[in-house]
Amino acid sequence: MLIVMHHHATAEEIKAVQAAVTALGFRSEPIPGKERTAIGVLGNQGYVDDGTILELPGVLEVIHVSKPYKLVSRDFHPAASEVRVGEVVLGNGLAPVVMAGPCSIESEEQIVTAARLVKSAGAQILRGGAFKPRTGPHSFQGLGIEGLKYLRAAGNEVDMPVVTEVMRIGQLDAVCQYADLVQIGARNMQNFELLKEVGKLDRPILLKRGMSATLEEFLAAAEYILAEGNSQVVLCERGIRTFETATRNTLDLSIVPLVRELSHLPIVVDPSHATGKRSLVPVMAKSALVAGAHGLMIEVHPTPETALCDGAQSLTGEGFADLMDQIRRLLPVLETC
Ligand code: PEP
Ligand code: MN
Repeated sequence: MLIVMHHHATAEEIKAVQAAVTALGFRSEPIPGKERTAIGVLGNQGYVDDGTILELPGVLEVIHVSKPYKLVSRDFHPAASEVRVGEVVLGNGLAPVVMAGPCSIESEEQIVTAARLVKSAGAQILRGGAFKPRTGPHSFQGLGIEGLKYLRAAGNEVDMPVVTEVMRIGQLDAVCQYADLVQIGARNMQNFELLKEVGKLDRPILLKRGMSATLEEFLAAAEYILAEGNSQVVLCERGIRTFETATRNTLDLSIVPLVRELSHLPIVVDPSHATGKRSLVPVMAKSALVAGAHGLMIEVHPTPETALCDGAQSLTGEGFADLMDQIRRLLPVLETC
């Protein structure tokens, strides 16, 4: 529910409305605007009689917001949010942030080599998986904590913040010890207990879209994190399951502008998992920026042919450097559009 106050409402009137909301057992969030202040009401499940609220001095109207996401929506938070990862900031009007690195951390040497390659090409955040959500149990499962240590050391060496996936609550302490940005993978997008737990952290979260999640489910998943108090969330479109088998997933680029309309949170695109094919990654990466993505996540491996995971979709260091050159040429054009 949104309570819209008259533009001349006084601070006392706003306080009185908040007190009335609290007395009803709900939570409230003031939403300051240019023209008038609104008060967002949360925790109201089921029917709420808004008659008593409408009668309070200063109240203009009461709007019922029936979406399953509220804190994530522009209704509750009209201005676009920025999310900081170390020294790097993602958000509207800022240069797109590129996160790059191998699918999995395979050895100290591999991640350090990858880190140097992506850093010299201009990436801002180093990625690498230590806990891997593999389809089958016989595939490489990641190096675990040892991998986290190598990732941190590689990030430190090239002075880049690092992002890595957490698969369950029990791994959260370890991941937070080593990572600047905590990734929730597609398969865990609706692991609500994990979402609630990362919602209690003071740490940015990268939330990937579930492979069969609607946009509403995706935003409702982000709502779980914000509802616990952590609003540092970056969304990531990584392709969805459709009938099409020519690509690994179907990149749903149209949700990028739609997320920007509906939500204040930044959104990045992962063309690597979306396409599954190295040759398609550069053009879809650039298309994502045209669509308005605030950043990209790209898999890069020093020797993709020997990769333990996702080699076919990983760019080489050279391929990634080429893409970054193309992106640099594209950016001034985008600014004029
Ligand atoms: C990943 O980014 O390492 C990954 C496993 O991606 P997703 O969760 O999108 O499949
Ligand atoms: Mn991968």
